[in-house]
Amino acid sequence: MKGLGVAIGKIVNISCKITGKGGTSLPGKIALMTDKDIIKKLLSSLEKNKVIVTGTNGKTTTSGLVAHLLSFSGMKVVHNKEGANMRTGIATSLVKNSNLMGYLKKDAAIFEVDEANLGLLVDEINPNIVIVTNFFRDQLDRFGEIDLIVDKVAKALSRLQKDSIVLLNADDPFASSLGDTLRSKVMYYGIEEEVESIKSFSFEQKFCPVCGTKYEYKKIYYGHLGDYYCPKCGKKRPDPDFKASGIILSEENGIKFKISYKNKNFTVKSGLIGLYNVYNLLAAVSAGILLGLEDSVILRAVETYNPIEGRLQKIQWKDKKAIINLVKNPVGLESTLNMLLQFEKPLNLLIIINDNYADGRDVSWLWDANLEEFLSKANVNYAVASGLRGEEVALRLKYAGFDSKKIKVIPLEEAVKEIFNVTDKEIIAILPNYTALQELTKYLKSQGAL
Ligand SMILES: [Zn+2]
Repeated sequence: MKGLGVAIGKIVNISCKITGKGGTSLPGKIALMTDKDIIKKLLSSLEKNKVIVTGTNGKTTTSGLVAHLLSFSGMKVVHNKEGANMRTGIATSLVKNSNLMGYLKKDAAIFEVDEANLGLLVDEINPNIVIVTNFFRDQLDRFGEIDLIVDKVAKALSRLQKDSIVLLNADDPFASSLGDTLRSKVMYYGIEEEVESIKSFSFEQKFCPVCGTKYEYKKIYYGHLGDYYCPKCGKKRPDPDFKASGIILSEENGIKFKISYKNKNFTVKSGLIGLYNVYNLLAAVSAGILLGLEDSVILRAVETYNPIEGRLQKIQWKDKKAIINLVKNPVGLESTLNMLLQFEKPLNLLIIINDNYADGRDVSWLWDANLEEFLSKANVNYAVASGLRGEEVALRLKYAGFDSKKIKVIPLEEAVKEIFNVTDKEIIAILPNYTALQELTKYLKSQGAL
């Protein structure tokens, strides 16, 4: 029986290629229908190097980094790509990487897993390490309670084997609270640094799980991530095992910072940009150390990692440079804008928002991002709004206090040309949501800019 699901999955995969559907979840869907234990069976040959990354933001970059660290050290890695982080997507990535006998010829498996899908997958994957990045309200669950999602993840993680390691972001009180109840080994990573933050509408108040008092903060990095404590009972942010400090963020040279773990000190250099990539890098390097990779390999791998399309990607078109970053929720938008402020240069913004099904139909999250605070500090010379909801973007900017004479609403291709045309010494920031990024990428490729 073992080979059957895989054989069928392969057939589907081939048929998908012929019909040009891409096939990110259909082969896995059919394989799971044929054999519901296909994920467990295909992974049975792999005892170590199984990593799950979950949380609201940073899953794609963190899992991409971990996969790169492992490949760089010479391992063969199976890794599900973005947009395939449900059970069917994971089954698809396994089926595609197996032979017709149902044997997975890989040394490591890295999966980005949607928070809601974690329950079953923890049993099926039996991971050695689970990384939890953070919890924010996404556009899909913005009316749901974060605590409900955290409870769901806690339940899933409680089923982990005792020798699994859960690596939690110490700076997020929601993620770190998971560590209080787990029987598996828990470790933390966090930033220890003075960084000026933007006041965020995405701040989620966390109450002390011991006495129910509101947490207070000594430092906030972004959203509700920072150094928090309970003023009543003394419960506080856990002391991280992996610490990032001495952070230098530059638009030209990327990120440089120090990681300390036990008696080890690394200096990490990366072409990625922005403070929240420090979290992604820190989580990935921590996982690399725990997986037993050589220090020198980890550092070289990090330096050679290129960002995934649309994730703080730097591009050059004609003689001008731009930064592209996918935005899909208020905290993502705020932290991107916060990062742009850190460069202390004038900006030109192109925001492209669609409301297709894959984007989430409701774009009212634009109103949940604190653009007022950003615009009060930033020097934005010109803004272009585009996409199916370009008008709403322009309206949001106007309400946030931006001069309406300096905003244009135009279709995507013209908008890209316009923002490059009006730019002289400013930084160009292009912020698309999901399907807008796909259109943008297609256009830039056709222009030889990617
Ligand atoms: Zn307390």
